[in-house]
Amino acid sequence: MTARTDEPAARAHVVRTARSLFERGLTHGSTGNLSVRLADGSLLLTPTGSSLGTVQESELSRTDLHGRHLDGARPTKEAFLHAAFYRARPAAHAVVHLHSTHAAAVSCLDGLNPADALPPLTAYYAMRIGTLPLLPYHAPGDSGLEPLAERTARTHHAVLLANHGPVVAGPTLETAADAIEELEETARLHLLLRGLATRPLTPEQAAALTPTST
Ligand code: ZN
Repeated sequence: MTARTDEPAARAHVVRTARSLFERGLTHGSTGNLSVRLADGSLLLTPTGSSLGTVQESELSRTDLHGRHLDGARPTKEAFLHAAFYRARPAAHAVVHLHSTHAAAVSCLDGLNPADALPPLTAYYAMRIGTLPLLPYHAPGDSGLEPLAERTARTHHAVLLANHGPVVAGPTLETAADAIEELEETARLHLLLRGLATRPLTPEQAAALTPTST
């Protein structure tokens, strides 16, 4: 088995990113969780019941690709979603899930397009997210969502969980965090613009952009 020489740096990176997301109000209370894939294929995740604002490097959990607990604190109860994304996307090395206010608000709207919940209002959104499937409501921790999450993640690196929030995978923690922040900002723009006529990017304009976070 590959030695986990990358683990100390990964622990520091997860905690630094968690703090940054929390301190900037991108998630609240004990909501939100993030993970990275280590060199040996195991996953390092934020633990259950922890705040991203105060979680410590020594408190992180490790699981295998099927969400089975290996060591550390008990993982977030949403660990199965992270594991589903890593199984579906071999190039993904990080997953971020937030209950960020505007994306969570959009996830509660009636009449969303389940194939793509947000319009491509800006080029940065089109490059970092592209399309955003909406996964139907499940109670937090209900692993009944796992098969659908895994199937959807094969073709999409970002999803919106109905009445809940977004999950975004990326090749690095920076790209996943950047992308989920772009999603949150676009959700905010979408809500600001509700009731106004908007002109999203055309399919041709979106297709001409190079994806940056897949
Ligand atoms: Zn959640």
